Amino acid sequence: MNYEYLMPTKVIFGRNCIAQHSALFKTFGKKALIVTGARSARENGSQKDVTDALKEAGVDYSVFDKVMSNPTIPCVYEGAAAAKEQGADFIIAIGGGSPMDAGKAIALLAAQDIAPEALFSGNYENKVLPMVFVPTTAGTGSEVTQYSILTNDAAQSKTSIASPLIFPTLAFADAKYMECLPVQTTVNTAADALSHLVEGMLSSRASLLSDTLAAKGIGLFTACLPELLNALKTGSPAGVSPEARERLLQASLLGGMVIAQTGTTVVHAMGYSLTYFRDIDHGRANGLLLGAYLEFVEQHDPELARRVLHAAGYPQSRPFREMLALLMGEREAVGAEEIARYAKIAAGSKNMGNCVAKPTEEEILQLYQRSFA
Ligand code: NAP
Ligand code: FE
Repeated sequence: MNYEYLMPTKVIFGRNCIAQHSALFKTFGKKALIVTGARSARENGSQKDVTDALKEAGVDYSVFDKVMSNPTIPCVYEGAAAAKEQGADFIIAIGGGSPMDAGKAIALLAAQDIAPEALFSGNYENKVLPMVFVPTTAGTGSEVTQYSILTNDAAQSKTSIASPLIFPTLAFADAKYMECLPVQTTVNTAADALSHLVEGMLSSRASLLSDTLAAKGIGLFTACLPELLNALKTGSPAGVSPEARERLLQASLLGGMVIAQTGTTVVHAMGYSLTYFRDIDHGRANGLLLGAYLEFVEQHDPELARRVLHAAGYPQSRPFREMLALLMGEREAVGAEEIARYAKIAAGSKNMGNCVAKPTEEEILQLYQRSFA
Protein backbone atom coordinates (compact mmCIF):
# COMPACT_ATOMS: atom_id res chain seq x y z
CA MET A 1 0.00 0.00 0.00
CA ASN A 2 1.39 3.44 -0.95
CA TYR A 3 0.03 6.68 0.39
CA GLU A 4 0.86 10.21 1.50
CA TYR A 5 -0.77 12.18 4.30
CA LEU A 6 -0.71 15.98 4.54
CA MET A 7 -2.76 18.04 7.01
CA PRO A 8 -0.70 21.10 7.98
CA THR A 9 -3.49 23.06 9.71
CA LYS A 10 -3.09 23.57 13.45
CA VAL A 11 -6.45 22.84 15.11
CA ILE A 12 -7.41 24.25 18.50
CA PHE A 13 -10.64 22.66 19.69
CA GLY A 14 -12.85 23.49 22.65
CA ARG A 15 -15.14 25.91 24.40
CA ASN A 16 -13.80 29.49 24.50
CA CYS A 17 -10.65 28.47 22.64
CA ILE A 18 -10.34 31.85 20.86
CA ALA A 19 -10.25 33.88 24.10
CA GLN A 20 -7.78 31.40 25.59
CA HIS A 21 -5.37 31.79 22.66
CA SER A 22 -5.78 35.46 21.74
CA ALA A 23 -2.01 36.00 21.81
CA LEU A 24 -1.66 33.78 18.74
CA PHE A 25 -3.25 36.42 16.51
CA LYS A 26 -0.28 38.76 16.68
CA THR A 27 2.00 36.05 15.28
CA PHE A 28 0.25 36.50 11.89
CA GLY A 29 0.73 40.24 11.42
CA LYS A 30 -0.53 43.69 12.33
CA LYS A 31 -3.72 43.86 10.29
CA ALA A 32 -6.38 41.23 9.59
CA LEU A 33 -9.21 41.12 7.10
CA ILE A 34 -12.19 39.32 8.63
CA VAL A 35 -14.09 37.50 5.86
CA THR A 36 -17.62 36.50 6.77
CA GLY A 37 -21.29 36.30 5.73
CA ALA A 38 -23.98 38.92 6.11
CA ARG A 39 -25.26 38.19 9.60
CA SER A 40 -24.64 34.95 11.44
CA ALA A 41 -21.11 35.66 12.76
CA ARG A 42 -22.41 38.78 14.47
CA GLU A 43 -25.39 36.92 15.91
CA ASN A 44 -23.68 33.78 17.24
CA GLY A 45 -20.86 35.58 19.06
CA SER A 46 -17.99 34.29 16.92
CA GLN A 47 -17.12 37.66 15.38
CA LYS A 48 -17.12 39.35 18.79
CA ASP A 49 -14.84 36.66 20.24
CA VAL A 50 -12.45 37.25 17.34
CA THR A 51 -12.49 41.05 17.53
CA ASP A 52 -12.09 40.96 21.34
CA ALA A 53 -9.06 38.68 20.89
CA LEU A 54 -7.64 40.97 18.20
CA LYS A 55 -7.99 44.00 20.49
CA GLU A 56 -6.36 42.07 23.32
CA ALA A 57 -3.49 41.13 20.98
CA GLY A 58 -3.17 44.68 19.61
CA VAL A 59 -3.99 43.63 16.04
CA ASP A 60 -5.93 45.99 13.77
CA TYR A 61 -8.71 44.63 11.51
CA SER A 62 -11.33 45.43 8.94
CA VAL A 63 -14.37 43.40 7.92
CA PHE A 64 -15.49 42.05 4.53
CA ASP A 65 -18.99 40.68 5.21
CA LYS A 66 -20.25 40.22 1.67
CA VAL A 67 -19.83 36.45 1.29
CA MET A 68 -23.04 34.77 0.11
CA SER A 69 -23.81 31.05 0.23
CA ASN A 70 -22.01 29.21 -2.60
CA PRO A 71 -19.61 32.14 -3.11
CA THR A 72 -19.04 33.48 -6.59
CA ILE A 73 -15.84 34.37 -8.43
CA PRO A 74 -16.58 38.14 -8.43
CA CYS A 75 -17.10 37.95 -4.64
CA VAL A 76 -13.59 36.57 -4.00
CA TYR A 77 -11.95 39.12 -6.33
CA GLU A 78 -13.81 41.87 -4.45
CA GLY A 79 -12.61 40.42 -1.14
CA ALA A 80 -9.02 40.25 -2.40
CA ALA A 81 -9.19 43.88 -3.53
CA ALA A 82 -10.41 44.82 -0.03
CA ALA A 83 -7.53 42.86 1.54
CA LYS A 84 -4.99 44.71 -0.62
CA GLU A 85 -6.60 48.10 -0.11
CA GLN A 86 -6.65 47.61 3.66
CA GLY A 87 -3.08 46.28 3.70
CA ALA A 88 -4.15 43.05 5.42
CA ASP A 89 -1.30 40.75 6.53
CA PHE A 90 -3.65 37.81 7.10
CA ILE A 91 -7.21 36.58 6.63
CA ILE A 92 -9.62 35.49 9.34
CA ALA A 93 -12.61 33.62 7.90
CA ILE A 94 -15.64 33.17 10.17
CA GLY A 95 -18.72 31.20 9.16
CA GLY A 96 -19.87 28.13 7.33
CA GLY A 97 -18.16 26.63 4.31
CA SER A 98 -19.04 29.64 2.18
CA PRO A 99 -17.02 32.32 4.05
CA MET A 100 -14.24 29.81 4.70
CA ASP A 101 -13.94 28.83 1.03
CA ALA A 102 -14.09 32.50 0.02
CA GLY A 103 -11.42 33.27 2.65
CA LYS A 104 -9.00 30.81 1.02
CA ALA A 105 -9.44 32.28 -2.45
CA ILE A 106 -9.09 35.80 -1.04
CA ALA A 107 -5.87 34.82 0.79
CA LEU A 108 -4.48 33.51 -2.51
CA LEU A 109 -5.65 36.39 -4.71
CA ALA A 110 -4.45 39.04 -2.25
CA ALA A 111 -0.91 37.63 -2.45
CA GLN A 112 -0.59 37.19 -6.22
CA ASP A 113 -2.27 38.24 -9.43
CA ILE A 114 -4.29 35.43 -10.98
CA ALA A 115 -6.56 36.05 -13.96
CA PRO A 116 -10.11 34.63 -13.61
CA GLU A 117 -9.40 32.21 -16.50
CA ALA A 118 -6.47 30.75 -14.53
CA LEU A 119 -8.19 30.66 -11.15
CA PHE A 120 -8.83 26.90 -11.15
CA SER A 121 -5.59 25.98 -12.97
CA GLY A 122 -3.61 24.94 -9.90
CA ASN A 123 -0.60 26.85 -11.26
CA TYR A 124 0.14 29.40 -8.60
CA GLU A 125 3.20 31.12 -7.22
CA ASN A 126 4.18 29.99 -3.75
CA LYS A 127 2.52 33.00 -2.11
CA VAL A 128 -0.59 33.22 0.05
CA LEU A 129 -1.67 35.19 3.12
CA PRO A 130 -1.81 33.22 6.40
CA MET A 131 -5.34 32.13 7.32
CA VAL A 132 -7.12 31.73 10.66
CA PHE A 133 -10.49 29.97 10.36
CA VAL A 134 -13.48 29.80 12.69
CA PRO A 135 -16.17 27.35 11.52
CA THR A 136 -19.71 28.15 12.65
CA THR A 137 -21.40 25.19 10.96
CA ALA A 138 -20.42 21.55 11.50
CA GLY A 139 -20.29 20.02 8.08
CA THR A 140 -17.88 21.18 5.43
CA GLY A 141 -14.60 20.71 7.30
CA SER A 142 -13.29 23.51 5.09
CA GLU A 143 -11.16 24.70 8.02
CA VAL A 144 -8.87 21.70 7.40
CA THR A 145 -8.97 21.27 3.62
CA GLN A 146 -7.02 22.65 0.67
CA TYR A 147 -10.18 23.29 -1.38
CA SER A 148 -12.00 26.50 -2.12
CA ILE A 149 -15.24 25.65 -3.93
CA LEU A 150 -16.72 28.48 -5.95
CA THR A 151 -19.81 28.90 -8.11
CA ASN A 152 -18.50 28.75 -11.65
CA ASP A 153 -21.00 30.04 -14.20
CA ALA A 154 -18.73 29.18 -17.13
CA ALA A 155 -18.94 25.49 -16.13
CA GLN A 156 -22.56 25.84 -14.86
CA SER A 157 -21.40 24.10 -11.71
CA LYS A 158 -19.21 24.47 -8.65
CA THR A 159 -15.48 24.21 -9.23
CA SER A 160 -12.63 23.80 -6.73
CA ILE A 161 -9.41 25.67 -6.38
CA ALA A 162 -7.34 22.77 -5.00
CA SER A 163 -3.85 23.52 -3.75
CA PRO A 164 -1.81 22.71 -0.62
CA LEU A 165 -1.12 26.47 -0.51
CA ILE A 166 -4.64 27.13 0.75
CA PHE A 167 -4.71 24.86 3.77
CA PRO A 168 -5.68 27.25 6.59
CA THR A 169 -2.84 27.96 8.98
CA LEU A 170 -4.91 27.74 12.16
CA ALA A 171 -8.49 26.66 12.95
CA PHE A 172 -10.36 27.51 16.14
CA ALA A 173 -13.16 24.97 16.54
CA ASP A 174 -15.71 25.92 19.19
CA ALA A 175 -19.13 24.24 19.04
CA LYS A 176 -20.78 26.97 21.12
CA TYR A 177 -21.22 29.02 17.92
CA MET A 178 -23.55 26.30 16.59
CA GLU A 179 -25.93 26.24 19.54
CA CYS A 180 -28.46 28.47 17.74
CA LEU A 181 -27.86 27.03 14.27
CA PRO A 182 -31.34 26.32 12.81
CA VAL A 183 -32.26 22.64 12.91
CA GLN A 184 -32.47 22.36 9.11
CA THR A 185 -28.97 23.84 8.64
CA THR A 186 -27.68 21.59 11.44
CA VAL A 187 -29.07 18.53 9.65
CA ASN A 188 -27.94 19.61 6.17
CA THR A 189 -24.40 20.37 7.29
CA ALA A 190 -24.24 17.12 9.31
CA ALA A 191 -25.22 15.27 6.12
CA ASP A 192 -22.29 16.97 4.36
CA ALA A 193 -19.90 15.75 7.07
CA LEU A 194 -21.31 12.22 6.79
CA SER A 195 -20.98 12.36 3.03
CA HIS A 196 -17.30 13.39 3.26
CA LEU A 197 -16.60 10.54 5.70
CA VAL A 198 -18.42 7.91 3.62
CA GLU A 199 -17.17 9.15 0.25
CA GLY A 200 -13.64 9.17 1.67
CA MET A 201 -13.95 5.45 2.40
CA LEU A 202 -15.37 4.88 -1.11
CA SER A 203 -12.50 6.75 -2.76
CA SER A 204 -9.72 5.11 -4.75
CA ARG A 205 -7.35 7.41 -2.79
CA ALA A 206 -8.42 6.06 0.63
CA SER A 207 -5.66 4.79 2.92
CA LEU A 208 -5.36 3.21 6.34
CA LEU A 209 -5.07 6.69 7.87
CA SER A 210 -8.04 8.23 6.07
CA ASP A 211 -10.21 5.15 6.72
CA THR A 212 -9.34 5.24 10.42
CA LEU A 213 -10.40 8.89 10.66
CA ALA A 214 -13.50 8.26 8.55
CA ALA A 215 -14.72 5.29 10.57
CA LYS A 216 -14.37 7.29 13.80
CA GLY A 217 -16.23 10.26 12.29
CA ILE A 218 -19.07 8.08 11.01
CA GLY A 219 -19.49 6.68 14.53
CA LEU A 220 -19.63 10.23 15.96
CA PHE A 221 -22.33 11.12 13.44
CA THR A 222 -24.49 8.09 14.19
CA ALA A 223 -24.22 8.80 17.93
CA CYS A 224 -25.96 12.14 17.22
CA LEU A 225 -28.76 10.70 15.07
CA PRO A 226 -31.43 10.37 17.80
CA GLU A 227 -30.96 14.02 18.79
CA LEU A 228 -30.99 15.19 15.16
CA LEU A 229 -34.20 13.29 14.41
CA ASN A 230 -35.82 14.56 17.57
CA ALA A 231 -34.78 18.17 16.85
CA LEU A 232 -36.38 17.86 13.41
CA LYS A 233 -39.68 17.03 15.13
CA THR A 234 -39.55 19.94 17.59
CA GLY A 235 -37.82 22.41 15.26
CA SER A 236 -35.74 23.69 18.18
CA PRO A 237 -31.94 24.09 17.86
CA ALA A 238 -31.79 23.48 21.63
CA GLY A 239 -32.87 19.89 20.90
CA VAL A 240 -29.28 19.21 19.83
CA SER A 241 -27.28 19.22 23.08
CA PRO A 242 -23.90 20.99 23.44
CA GLU A 243 -22.30 17.52 23.68
CA ALA A 244 -23.87 16.45 20.38
CA ARG A 245 -22.79 19.77 18.81
CA GLU A 246 -19.19 18.97 19.84
CA ARG A 247 -19.48 15.47 18.36
CA LEU A 248 -20.82 16.87 15.09
CA LEU A 249 -18.02 19.43 14.93
CA GLN A 250 -15.46 16.67 15.44
CA ALA A 251 -17.17 14.53 12.79
CA SER A 252 -16.95 17.53 10.47
CA LEU A 253 -13.26 18.08 11.23
CA LEU A 254 -12.54 14.40 10.61
CA GLY A 255 -14.52 14.55 7.36
CA GLY A 256 -12.41 17.50 6.20
CA MET A 257 -9.19 15.69 7.12
CA VAL A 258 -10.42 12.67 5.16
CA ILE A 259 -11.39 14.47 1.94
CA ALA A 260 -8.15 16.47 2.09
CA GLN A 261 -6.53 13.08 1.35
CA THR A 262 -9.16 11.29 -0.73
CA GLY A 263 -11.18 13.97 -2.55
CA THR A 264 -14.93 13.41 -2.97
CA THR A 265 -16.75 11.08 -5.36
CA VAL A 266 -19.72 11.02 -7.70
CA VAL A 267 -22.05 12.00 -4.82
CA HIS A 268 -20.55 15.49 -4.58
CA ALA A 269 -20.32 15.73 -8.38
CA MET A 270 -24.05 14.94 -8.64
CA GLY A 271 -24.91 17.26 -5.77
CA TYR A 272 -23.26 20.28 -7.39
CA SER A 273 -25.96 20.37 -10.11
CA LEU A 274 -28.71 20.22 -7.49
CA THR A 275 -27.13 23.25 -5.82
CA TYR A 276 -26.25 25.13 -9.01
CA PHE A 277 -29.53 24.66 -10.88
CA ARG A 278 -32.02 24.06 -8.03
CA ASP A 279 -30.48 25.99 -5.14
CA ILE A 280 -30.61 22.94 -2.87
CA ASP A 281 -28.20 23.34 0.09
CA HIS A 282 -24.86 21.64 -0.51
CA GLY A 283 -25.13 19.25 2.46
CA ARG A 284 -28.74 18.37 1.72
CA ALA A 285 -27.88 17.62 -1.91
CA ASN A 286 -25.33 15.05 -0.72
CA GLY A 287 -27.70 13.64 1.89
CA LEU A 288 -30.34 13.10 -0.80
CA LEU A 289 -27.92 11.15 -3.01
CA LEU A 290 -25.63 9.25 -0.65
CA GLY A 291 -27.99 6.37 0.16
CA ALA A 292 -28.57 5.41 -3.47
CA TYR A 293 -24.84 5.52 -4.21
CA LEU A 294 -23.99 3.30 -1.23
CA GLU A 295 -26.55 0.77 -2.55
CA PHE A 296 -24.81 0.94 -5.93
CA VAL A 297 -21.45 0.30 -4.23
CA GLU A 298 -22.95 -2.61 -2.30
CA GLN A 299 -23.88 -4.26 -5.60
CA HIS A 300 -20.46 -3.68 -7.19
CA ASP A 301 -18.07 -4.03 -4.25
CA PRO A 302 -19.94 -5.59 -1.30
CA GLU A 303 -16.86 -5.72 0.93
CA LEU A 304 -16.19 -1.98 0.52
CA ALA A 305 -19.82 -1.11 1.33
CA ARG A 306 -19.74 -3.48 4.30
CA ARG A 307 -16.78 -1.59 5.83
CA VAL A 308 -18.67 1.72 5.63
CA LEU A 309 -21.88 0.20 6.98
CA HIS A 310 -20.00 -1.47 9.82
CA ALA A 311 -18.60 1.93 10.86
CA ALA A 312 -22.15 3.32 10.87
CA GLY A 313 -23.60 0.32 12.70
CA TYR A 314 -25.88 -0.86 9.88
CA PRO A 315 -26.05 -4.44 8.57
CA GLN A 316 -26.95 -3.41 5.00
CA SER A 317 -27.26 -0.32 2.83
CA ARG A 318 -31.06 -0.38 2.84
CA PRO A 319 -31.59 0.65 6.51
CA PHE A 320 -28.77 3.18 6.07
CA ARG A 321 -30.66 4.68 3.14
CA GLU A 322 -33.88 4.65 5.17
CA MET A 323 -32.13 6.55 7.98
CA LEU A 324 -31.02 9.22 5.49
CA ALA A 325 -34.54 9.36 4.03
CA LEU A 326 -35.92 10.09 7.48
CA LEU A 327 -33.32 12.78 8.06
CA MET A 328 -33.88 14.46 4.69
CA GLY A 329 -37.70 14.44 4.91
CA GLU A 330 -39.80 15.34 1.90
CA ARG A 331 -37.81 15.43 -1.32
CA GLU A 332 -37.87 18.07 -4.03
CA ALA A 333 -39.49 17.14 -7.34
CA VAL A 334 -36.82 16.83 -10.02
CA GLY A 335 -37.84 16.26 -13.65
CA ALA A 336 -36.53 13.65 -16.09
CA GLU A 337 -35.02 16.19 -18.47
CA GLU A 338 -33.04 18.04 -15.83
CA ILE A 339 -31.77 14.77 -14.36
CA ALA A 340 -30.45 13.73 -17.78
CA ARG A 341 -28.58 17.03 -18.00
CA TYR A 342 -27.14 16.69 -14.49
CA ALA A 343 -26.05 13.09 -15.16
CA LYS A 344 -24.05 14.22 -18.17
CA ILE A 345 -22.31 16.94 -16.16
CA ALA A 346 -21.49 14.57 -13.27
CA ALA A 347 -20.19 11.86 -15.63
CA GLY A 348 -17.67 14.36 -17.02
CA SER A 349 -16.48 15.66 -13.64
CA LYS A 350 -13.03 14.99 -12.27
CA ASN A 351 -14.52 13.49 -9.09
CA MET A 352 -15.33 10.38 -11.13
CA GLY A 353 -11.63 9.54 -11.08
CA ASN A 354 -11.87 9.04 -7.29
CA CYS A 355 -14.65 6.43 -7.37
CA VAL A 356 -13.76 2.80 -6.66
CA ALA A 357 -17.23 1.84 -7.93
CA LYS A 358 -17.54 4.05 -11.02
CA PRO A 359 -21.06 4.46 -12.41
CA THR A 360 -21.60 5.12 -16.12
CA GLU A 361 -23.64 8.12 -17.24
CA GLU A 362 -26.67 5.83 -17.54
CA GLU A 363 -26.08 4.53 -14.02
CA ILE A 364 -25.71 8.09 -12.68
CA LEU A 365 -29.08 8.84 -14.24
CA GLN A 366 -30.51 5.84 -12.39
CA LEU A 367 -28.93 7.05 -9.13
CA TYR A 368 -30.73 10.39 -9.55
CA GLN A 369 -33.97 8.57 -10.38
CA ARG A 370 -33.72 6.35 -7.31
CA SER A 371 -32.85 9.35 -5.12
CA PHE A 372 -35.91 11.29 -6.22
CA ALA A 373 -38.39 8.44 -6.74
P1 NAP B 1 -22.93 28.34 4.34
O1 NAP B 1 -23.36 28.69 2.96
O2 NAP B 1 -21.59 28.72 4.78
O3 NAP B 1 -23.99 28.93 5.40
C1 NAP B 1 -25.37 28.63 5.26
C2 NAP B 1 -26.21 29.57 6.07
O4 NAP B 1 -26.02 29.33 7.46
C3 NAP B 1 -25.92 31.05 5.84
O5 NAP B 1 -27.16 31.70 5.70
C4 NAP B 1 -25.21 31.49 7.12
O6 NAP B 1 -25.50 32.85 7.44
C5 NAP B 1 -25.83 30.57 8.14
N1 NAP B 1 -25.00 30.28 9.32
C6 NAP B 1 -23.70 29.93 9.36
N2 NAP B 1 -23.31 29.68 10.62
C7 NAP B 1 -24.40 29.91 11.41
C8 NAP B 1 -24.63 29.83 12.83
N3 NAP B 1 -23.69 29.42 13.67
N4 NAP B 1 -25.87 30.14 13.29
C9 NAP B 1 -26.85 30.53 12.43
N5 NAP B 1 -26.69 30.61 11.09
C10 NAP B 1 -25.49 30.30 10.60
O7 NAP B 1 -23.21 26.76 4.51
P2 NAP B 1 -22.25 25.50 4.69
O8 NAP B 1 -23.09 24.32 4.44
O9 NAP B 1 -21.48 25.58 5.96
O10 NAP B 1 -21.20 25.65 3.51
C11 NAP B 1 -21.53 25.30 2.19
C12 NAP B 1 -20.39 25.68 1.27
O11 NAP B 1 -19.21 24.96 1.64
C13 NAP B 1 -20.68 25.34 -0.18
O12 NAP B 1 -20.25 26.38 -1.00
C14 NAP B 1 -19.85 24.08 -0.39
O13 NAP B 1 -19.49 23.90 -1.75
C15 NAP B 1 -18.66 24.35 0.48
N6 NAP B 1 -17.90 23.15 0.90
C16 NAP B 1 -16.54 23.26 0.95
C17 NAP B 1 -15.76 22.19 1.31
C18 NAP B 1 -14.27 22.33 1.34
O14 NAP B 1 -13.55 21.36 1.57
N7 NAP B 1 -13.74 23.50 1.13
C19 NAP B 1 -16.35 20.97 1.65
C20 NAP B 1 -17.74 20.89 1.59
C21 NAP B 1 -18.50 21.99 1.23
P3 NAP B 1 -24.51 34.08 7.03
O15 NAP B 1 -24.47 34.12 5.54
O16 NAP B 1 -25.16 35.27 7.64
O17 NAP B 1 -23.18 33.76 7.63
FE1 FE C 1 -19.16 18.81 0.89
